[in-house]
Amino acid sequence: MSSFFQNFRKIPTISVFYVLVMIIALSFTVASYMHYNTLTSNLNTQIKNLENIYVEYKLPKEDVLNSSDYERLQRDYNSQTLWVIGQYLVFLVILGFGTYQVKASLDREMNLARQQKNFMLSITHELKSPIAGIKLAMETMLSRELDAPKRKLLSSNALKDSIRLHDLVNNILMAAKIEDESFEFKASRQNLSSLTSEIAKKLQETTQANRAFTFDIKDKVFIEADRMAITSIVTNLIENAIKYTENGDAVIIRLREEANKVRLSIIDTGVGVAEHEKQNIFQKFYRVGDEEVRKTKGTGLGLFIVKQLVERHKGTIGVGDNQPKGSIFTVVFPVAQLDKTDSSGAVMMG
Ligand code: ADP
Repeated sequence: MSSFFQNFRKIPTISVFYVLVMIIALSFTVASYMHYNTLTSNLNTQIKNLENIYVEYKLPKEDVLNSSDYERLQRDYNSQTLWVIGQYLVFLVILGFGTYQVKASLDREMNLARQQKNFMLSITHELKSPIAGIKLAMETMLSRELDAPKRKLLSSNALKDSIRLHDLVNNILMAAKIEDESFEFKASRQNLSSLTSEIAKKLQETTQANRAFTFDIKDKVFIEADRMAITSIVTNLIENAIKYTENGDAVIIRLREEANKVRLSIIDTGVGVAEHEKQNIFQKFYRVGDEEVRKTKGTGLGLFIVKQLVERHKGTIGVGDNQPKGSIFTVVFPVAQLDKTDSSGAVMMG
């Protein structure tokens, strides 16, 4: 008996829901059909009664068909039949709409549950591996006499791991602040050209991949922005370009200024983003594919943060395809307006 209930509980909710919808639709179809049958048989009985009256009065039975009573009966029958059909159709439309709404909300719930599960799996992994790396490096340095180059290698690996941890914690905190709107943006005039190059160079030193960059950066491009937010945007985009390009090709960093707009593009030759995923990847916790089979590390927070920060700077972000492969992430900001920057540079942004 208990195994029956266990098996019963394994039936997916959506299947139970569809069965219920089918039962409701079937019941209403049967009820409407029966109603229609009753109307038809009532009409036939009333016509029969009318014919009997004609027979009683010795009138020709066929004259019933031309009588006003017959016309009235037929009219009533038609309007009642139309009412039954109308009711049935309205019911079907409401049931269809309701089913669609419930299915959409179930899908949303399931997506959120899947993303949270992915997030928990990835965050555990993301925390565990740099901590294990740092622990191992420290233990090795403490327990053995090492020569200088070995000590340097272990220290620099431990440093890279701690930077990874630091970035991860920063991203989590930033996402939490964005969520409860407690992040205070302090806008000031930023030289995006030098800031982008600085970030890329720092990432070049600290990422394990040691990736080459092609700089195509226009000099002295200024925007009005929060320095920490811009650092987070550029860091996340470049880190992704490195992470999702296994083949080692150079990542192109392009900065242009055109018609009051600043356009920053991070171009890679990596795995690219499928057309149907282009909207999804900016959602919180969203990662393409399944955590259990995925090779790359991550939390699905990076692009969510980037999009939120870009939008708070009145900018836009989009992703396109690179040729022959890879992706192009492009952020467009309005150009800094000199007169709006005060001497302290502290302007609050919404
Ligand atoms: P994470 O990198 O931690 O998974 P992100 O929010 O930064 O989270 O990215 C979301 C998803 O978008 C990634 O899981 C990845 O599938 C896809 N993605 C992001 N950047 C790139 C890129 N440069 N090339 C290909 N796919 C990317």
